[in-house]
Amino acid sequence: MFGPIVKPKDLREAVQRVAEGGRPLAGGTDLFVRIRKGLEKPGMLVYVGELPELGVLRATREGLEIGAARTHSELLESPLTEPFPILRKTLGTIASPALRAMGTLGGNLVNASPAGDSLVALYLLEAQVRIVGPQGERELFVQEFIQGPGKTGLRPGELVVSVFLPYVEGEPVSYFRKVGRRQALYISVVSLGALVWLDGEKITKARLALGSVAPTVVRPRAVEEALVGRLAHVEAVQDLVSLLSSLVQPISDLRASADYRRKVSGNLLLDLALFLQNRK
Ligand SMILES: Cc1cc2nc3c(=O)[nH]c(=O)nc-3n(C[C@H](O)[C@H](O)[C@H](O)COP(=O)(O)OP(=O)(O)OC[C@H]3O[C@@H](n4cnc5c(N)ncnc54)[C@H](O)[C@@H]3O)c2cc1C
Repeated sequence: MFGPIVKPKDLREAVQRVAEGGRPLAGGTDLFVRIRKGLEKPGMLVYVGELPELGVLRATREGLEIGAARTHSELLESPLTEPFPILRKTLGTIASPALRAMGTLGGNLVNASPAGDSLVALYLLEAQVRIVGPQGERELFVQEFIQGPGKTGLRPGELVVSVFLPYVEGEPVSYFRKVGRRQALYISVVSLGALVWLDGEKITKARLALGSVAPTVVRPRAVEEALVGRLAHVEAVQDLVSLLSSLVQPISDLRASADYRRKVSGNLLLDLALFLQNRK
C-alpha cells in the first residue's frame, strides 16, 4: 500500500528525503485514510512529527509561532494559545479527542480542505506559513499558501515548518459556528468564523471567514466592510444576508447541495449578529 516509513535525524535530512520524492507524514489521520481508500500510494513516508523545528511553540512580542507538528490537543491545552480564542474555538470542533491528539496543525493546513477547521482561524488571524526546502526558507500568507482543495504553494521538496500568528489589536469578539449533518464527529457543511471589534453596540471592524463554501476558505470582504458602523443586532445586518450568499461559490456533494450551503452561509451571519447581541 505504501513504501517504507523513514524517520530523519534532522530537518536537513527530512528536506532531502522529501526532495527525493518522500511524502511528509505527521499524525497520519488524513494520509492513512487516503492510502486506505487507494487515493494515494506514496513510495516513501517521511515522519516529521518529532523534528524539533516542527515542535516549537514560542510566543514573541509580535505573535505566536506554532510548529507544524503540534497537535490540536497540545494547542488547546497550552496557555500560549489563550490570546487566540478563535484558534481554540476552531480546533475544539475537529473530529474527536483521540483524533485531536494525533492530528496536527501542519497536517490540517497542507491537507488544504475547504472544510479544514483550523484554516478558518488561520485566515481570520492572517497567519504566515513558514516553509523550508532545498532552496532555503520562505514565508507565505495563508491565503497565498492555500490554492484549492488539496493544493498548496509548496514546491517539490518543501515542508511546512511552522505557522506564525500575529497578535490582533484590541480585544475582538471571537465567533465560530460549524454546521454539519450530525451532532458529533463531523466535517462541516458550512462554517463561519469571525473576529468583531465593537465600541459598545457598534461594530468598528470585522473579519469573517467561511469554510466549505468554495474551493478555499473565503473572506467576504464586501460584507466585512459593510458591517463597519452598524449595530451588532440581527435587524441591522439583515440586508447583508443576500450579499454574503452571493459571495460564496459552493458545490453540491454528498453532504449538502450548493443552494443549501448558500442559504446557510447567509443564516450564519444572522447567527453571528444574535451571538453579538446576546453576549454579556
Ligand atoms: C474521522 C475523521 C474526522 C475528521 N474530522 C475533521 C474535522 O472535524 N475538521 C478538520 O478540519 N479535519 C478533520 N479531519 C481531518 C484530519 O484529522 C485533520 O486534517 C488533521 O489535522 C490532519 O493532521 P495530520 O497530522 O494527521 O496529517 P497527516 O495525515 O499526517 O498529513 C496530511 C497531509 O499533510 C501533509 N503534511 C503533514 N505535515 C506536513 C508538513 N509539516 N509539511 C508538509 N506537508 C505535511 C501530508 O503529506 C499529507 O498530505 C478528520 C479526519 C478523520 C479521519
